[in-house]
Amino acid sequence: MNLPNLTDDLRPFFFTDGKYLNPIIFSVTGHRDIWPDAEEQLQKSLWEFLDGYFKIASKESSSRPIVFLDGMATGADQLVARVVNEVRGNFAPGFITLIAVFPMPEEDYVQDFSDPETQKEFEDAMRIVDAKIALPLTKNNQELRNRGEKIHRSEQYVLLAEFLVNSCNNLIALWDRQNFDNPKKGGTADVLARYLNFTNESLISLQETFVPYRDMERQIVLNRLNGAAITFYTPRSSSLSQPIPLDSVGESEVFAIPEHVHNSIIKQLNDIEKDMRNWYQQGLHFQCVGCGGCCTGAPGYVWLTDEEETQIAEFLNIPLDEFEKTYTRLVYGLRRSLKEIPQSNYDCVFFNSETKRCSIYDVRPAQCRTWPFWDSLLESPKAWDEASKSCPGCNQGPLIPFEEIEIRRKKISV
Ligand code: SF4
Ligand code: SF4
Repeated sequence: MNLPNLTDDLRPFFFTDGKYLNPIIFSVTGHRDIWPDAEEQLQKSLWEFLDGYFKIASKESSSRPIVFLDGMATGADQLVARVVNEVRGNFAPGFITLIAVFPMPEEDYVQDFSDPETQKEFEDAMRIVDAKIALPLTKNNQELRNRGEKIHRSEQYVLLAEFLVNSCNNLIALWDRQNFDNPKKGGTADVLARYLNFTNESLISLQETFVPYRDMERQIVLNRLNGAAITFYTPRSSSLSQPIPLDSVGESEVFAIPEHVHNSIIKQLNDIEKDMRNWYQQGLHFQCVGCGGCCTGAPGYVWLTDEEETQIAEFLNIPLDEFEKTYTRLVYGLRRSLKEIPQSNYDCVFFNSETKRCSIYDVRPAQCRTWPFWDSLLESPKAWDEASKSCPGCNQGPLIPFEEIEIRRKKISV
C-alpha cells in the first residue's frame, strides 16, 4: 500500500529553521461506541496518564514537541482529543499539538457525521485541533469515483490504520481487549496488532512515510522501536450484555515491541543505511543551465529561516514586517515560506519570468542554494533520476565530489 508521506503537511510541526525537532508522536485509536457509563472514568484515567506523561516529558525532553494524530471519529477519538486539549492547557503553548487525520477527503468524511448530534460533536472537536490532513482515496476508490460509483469506505479506514501506525512512536488505544487475534480490518484491534507487528515491511513503510527526512530516519525508527502501545480498557455498548464494575474501566496496559524484533530491525536498518549512503560516493555531475525550472511549476514551499528573512528584507531595503506581509506566507501558523503566484504557473514570487532569473539571487534562501543536493533527491538513484527529468543541470557539467554534496545536503533538510 502506498502511503502518503508526511513531507508537506506535517513538516511545519517537525522542523524549525531546517532543524528536525524529533517530536514524540502519539497516534490515537479506539471504539466509536463506548459504553456511556464508562466515559467519565475513562476520561479520568486518560487525564492522569497524559498529565503525568507531559510533566515528565516537559522536564526531561522539553525541546521535543509532542504531536497527537487523531482520526476525530465519534467516541474514543474525540474523547482522547478533548482530554489532550484540557491537559495541554497546563503546559507551554505549542508544546503539544493536536492534528486531525481524516481517512479520506474531508467532503467524503463529513458524511460519517450526518445526524445533527454527531455533526455538532464533530464541529466542536474540530475547533480544538491545530491542523487537519486528509488521506487521499486509494487507487481502487479513485477509479470507482471516476466511474461515478460509491467508494469503499472500509478501504480508507485500513489506509488510516496504516498511516497512524507508520507515523507514530506511541499508540493510545481505547480498547475492549477483544478480537486481537482476528481483528476487523481498520478497527481498533487491527491498529493495535499492526503497531505491535513491526516487520521488515513496516520498516520500509515507515521510511517511505518519512521520506525525505533521511538524516532523521534512524531516529524516527528508533523512536518507533522504543515506543509503546498504551491501552485503556474500554467497554463497548454493542458488546456489553450487562453492566460491569466501573473500577476496571480505564485500566491501562502497556505493550512494547519484543526485543528480538527490535534487534532484527536495527540490523536491517544498518544495512539499508549502508546501501543508501554509498550510491553517490563517486560524486555527481551538476551545472545549472539557468532554465528557471526549479523556481516554477507545481505548488510547494521555499522555507525561510529568521536570518534569511532579515537578509532578504535588508537586500530589498524594506522593513521586516513589510517583507513578511508582501512576500511570505505563514504555514500552519508556524513557519514562513515564500509566496508563489498561482496565476503564473506557481512561480516563486522572486522569479523574474522574463529574464528567467532569481531577483534576490545573492540572498536566496539555503533551500535554493543547495538544490539539487537535497535529502529527498539523494535518497536513491531513482529519486535523483526523477529530479534530473525536471532539472537539465543534473548529470551535466563538473563532478561535484561526495564531500561537497554532503556539506550542501546537511545545510537544510528538504
Ligand atoms: S532547474 Fe536546474 S538547470 Fe534549471 S535553473 Fe533550476 S537548477 Fe538550474
Ligand atoms: S528565491 Fe530565487 S532561487 Fe529561490 S525559488 Fe525563488 S526565484 Fe528561485
